[in-house]
Amino acid sequence: MISKRAQSVSPSETLKISAKAKELARQGKSIISLSAGEPDFNTPKHICDNAIKAIKDGFHGYTMNTGTPELRESISNKLKRDNNLDYAPSQIVCTNGAKQALGFSILAMVDEGDEVIIPAPYWVSYPQMVKVAGATPVTVRTSFENNFRITAEQLEEAITEDTKAFMLCSPSNPTGTCYTEQELKELAEVLSKYPQVNIISDEIYEYIVFEGDHVGILNVAPELKDRTVLINGFSKGFAMTGWRLGYLAAPQPFVDAVAKIQSQETSAPSSISQKAGEAAYTGSLDPIHEMRDSFKKRRDFIVDELADIEGVKCFKPSGAFYVFPDISQYLGSTSAKGNTIDSSTDLCMYLIEEHGLAAVPGDAFGEPNGIRLSYASSMDDLKEAMNRLQKGLKELS
Ligand code: PLP
Repeated sequence: MISKRAQSVSPSETLKISAKAKELARQGKSIISLSAGEPDFNTPKHICDNAIKAIKDGFHGYTMNTGTPELRESISNKLKRDNNLDYAPSQIVCTNGAKQALGFSILAMVDEGDEVIIPAPYWVSYPQMVKVAGATPVTVRTSFENNFRITAEQLEEAITEDTKAFMLCSPSNPTGTCYTEQELKELAEVLSKYPQVNIISDEIYEYIVFEGDHVGILNVAPELKDRTVLINGFSKGFAMTGWRLGYLAAPQPFVDAVAKIQSQETSAPSSISQKAGEAAYTGSLDPIHEMRDSFKKRRDFIVDELADIEGVKCFKPSGAFYVFPDISQYLGSTSAKGNTIDSSTDLCMYLIEEHGLAAVPGDAFGEPNGIRLSYASSMDDLKEAMNRLQKGLKELS
């Protein structure tokens, strides 16, 4: 009954830890979770108010497949205001989260036999989405020393005649790393030599950048615009994960191809969420900046704490709400109960089972030497989490 395609997809590794965390919490154990990929804030009030107004006004029907003209216009204006990019509303497709924008973009772009280059550590869904579409993910391991950013040389080495796309995520989940203008220029120089390679640029964390402004690849290499798909959404910057609203902006023929797929698979996102999204882009960004400032304080705290833990290395990421420390020194160690820690998955299982700390193993993101800690949690939880991590690692021998 199950297709080869479905069989080729792995279940989300991150779910194993969250299932364990839930099970232990149900048993009454104290669990601190730094495994969530979502802000711990509520959606700003003016955004909620516009959604409530939409409900009261009876804005309850299907909208246009690619999103309401008003939302697409507000996205087009936002892309000009914040990113200095020109996209007509017709070049935008609103989707059920950025996840759907990514999934449908990959479906519209790749065929069997095509390769898609994905720098690791990567967001868990990228390789799986490529597999669902029948193509081959080609992961390229980046280094801690380079703050987990793919170099121009690595990119060029990975390109073959079958390469159809390169996936770029800046700021990154899971590492929080942001590419500099210079690094983007160097990548763009390589890409300009290979016109068959399209670029999927996932910029969903663009509002959570701590040093300077967000820079996207199209800001440094506008000549790549006719083969770039820009992915963005409301989940992270506006604390709107549950509203399921994202979008893509791309050249018109590509947008039309994605729109065809969307029309047959899901239709437009919820009408109410679209009204919320409109308010997000037309209203004040002050609440967004407050959330960013709060994330920055927590980042500084967690990075300082990690620096004091023996055997843990961590660079200070400049975006998103994750740190990705190197814990390789603890691989091969043994717990007080005699369990061996052979992988980042073993380490995370040990930390949750014996110390009540939920973190996501780097194995899930294609980087065996790291773990992902999300600091989208209260300062009290972060302090307790760092105590538990320190204690847990100290008990390994
Ligand atoms: N891209 C990245 C890098 C993410 O981390 C996420 C969510 O975790 C998404 C896309 C999808 O976001 P959503 O579908 O909630 O808009």
